[in-house]
Amino acid sequence: MKIRSILFILWVLLVSVLLIPSTNAEELSSGVHQIYTVSDLRAIARDPGGRYQLMNDIDLAGEDWLPIPFSGVLVGGGHVLYNLTIRQPGIETSPGRDGNLKEYSLQLAGFFSEMNNAAVMNLGITGADVSIEADSHCFAAILCGKADHSTVTNVSVRGRVSLINHGIMTGVGGIAGYGNGSFEQCTVLAQLTLEDRQFQQRCEQFMGGILACGIGNVSGCAVDLSGYDSCHGYVHNGGLIGMYYHCGQEVSSGKIMHNTVTGIIHFFEDNRDRRAYCEAVIGEKLTKPVKMSDNLTRFTRDETRKTDKVLQAEKCETPTMEETVIQPENGHWGWTLHRCTICGNTWSDQYTPPAYLEEGN
Ligand SMILES: [Zn+2]
Repeated sequence: MKIRSILFILWVLLVSVLLIPSTNAEELSSGVHQIYTVSDLRAIARDPGGRYQLMNDIDLAGEDWLPIPFSGVLVGGGHVLYNLTIRQPGIETSPGRDGNLKEYSLQLAGFFSEMNNAAVMNLGITGADVSIEADSHCFAAILCGKADHSTVTNVSVRGRVSLINHGIMTGVGGIAGYGNGSFEQCTVLAQLTLEDRQFQQRCEQFMGGILACGIGNVSGCAVDLSGYDSCHGYVHNGGLIGMYYHCGQEVSSGKIMHNTVTGIIHFFEDNRDRRAYCEAVIGEKLTKPVKMSDNLTRFTRDETRKTDKVLQAEKCETPTMEETVIQPENGHWGWTLHRCTICGNTWSDQYTPPAYLEEGN
């Protein structure tokens, strides 16, 4: 055989080897929608079952975000959504059950209204401000109002969730409101406020740093929580989960392991048939977790018998606010720190992008 023929065969082999991986890479990337802008984010609503990858941090300042249902995969790539602002629940409602398996139609608020067989990973949501007044049963959280057979991995949320509720079945969570799923390696730094304005019937009220009411796995999460819960029915407050129960969902019990909880929940339960569930990890265990171990807590259960004043972070009738603007620098986002000089109520918002992002836009 001639040397030239051998070289030709080797060349053909080399070219085919080089072509195979590039074809595969194209096939893989063609199935994933890349997200660069707010309008790319909104486009998730047109294909809620799709696969998405966040390509950079996104500033949601000035957007009134409408919660959308999601049944796909969102890979955050370590990027962050800043200044998420939500003032109303999503359009769709979804069923949920209380501890007596009574069914309610739930309104849902969060970046996603409902996550259904969905997965979100390696994502940050910082400076979130979810503030809702709901005329009916409602759950609100930063990532999703309801999770159903979904996984949330390495998701970090920071912000405030406030719900004024006129319904009966209601709750606020750091990551999720109602439902079930797996929550792993998540971090939460949140202020949660829940005000019950249903005075005719006793409400079922839930609060949890990860999940307000439901069932699943919670592991390797770190929660730093301040909660304010004013209730004329039954409270179920937990540093991680308010009430642990299947609620009629076809999901088996999970593991609650290797989490840390720091924080305080202030609450009253204006109800003679008092239960007043409020614990560092799980408020009420109506279902027992398969395993619950190695959870480190520094948690304060702060119950007051005074029910004449709604509990909230701001203590003053007329607050005196002091604003400190932290400028963005060295590629990090800036923000504004607000502090009431009288009662010390403090929060951060108005995150501002570093220069390279502004130029890019
Ligand atoms: Zn004040």
